[in-house]
Amino acid sequence: MRIEDWAAARQRMVERQILSRGVADRRVLDALSAVERHRFVPVDVRDLAYTDQPLPIGDGQTISQPYIVALMTELLDPQPGDTLLEIGTGSGYQAAVLSSLVAQVYSIEILEPLAEEARARLEELGYRNVTVRCADGYRGWPEHAPFDGIVVTAAPPSVPQPLLEQLAVGGRMVVPVGDAFQELQVIVREDSGFTVRRSIAVRFVPMVGEAQQG
Ligand code: SAH
Repeated sequence: MRIEDWAAARQRMVERQILSRGVADRRVLDALSAVERHRFVPVDVRDLAYTDQPLPIGDGQTISQPYIVALMTELLDPQPGDTLLEIGTGSGYQAAVLSSLVAQVYSIEILEPLAEEARARLEELGYRNVTVRCADGYRGWPEHAPFDGIVVTAAPPSVPQPLLEQLAVGGRMVVPVGDAFQELQVIVREDSGFTVRRSIAVRFVPMVGEAQQG
């Protein structure tokens, strides 16, 4: 496909799958219009890059459905000066979407080949304010905390305590919580504690590692 065709497909994706489902934040829509999702998926599924579905990215993992990426980004309410943490880099797509909206994105991926690939891809595509680390995201990234926002793109059975602790006061965490089926939660850290708001039902791969140890 030619560059213009990809751009047109992307524009249709934003209008038909995202705007039409109620994601209205202009900055989020612009970010989804700009990031070349087809560069984040394997060549054999590239033609499906702008369809309304998650896609395999190798190692049994998937790049999330565009609408879910948009919704989670909107719920995170990213601000230009923010420092964000993502757990579950995967392809690096969600990190790339966040990149243009905030000052700095830290992203943790537990599988080495995916972390390596995402790091190389983000560098090649010029996303300079994203730093990828290979580790278990359960413990967060204390050296860079507190975070103005944390987005978790693998589902823990319950919210990891270290991630709550690394959220700045006024910060927001968007996280799918549960086992086979999960609900998307928006957790806000207030001066005096945390508030939890429930969004839609979702289906993410499980957060593996320490999150599974009860
Ligand atoms: N945000 C990704 C999609 C996430 S798929 C994208 O935009 O493409 C979920 C990812 O979370 C997978 O790559 C999986 O390996 C990773 N993951 C699962 N458990 C994890 C953990 N404990 N720490 C860090 N990453 C984890």
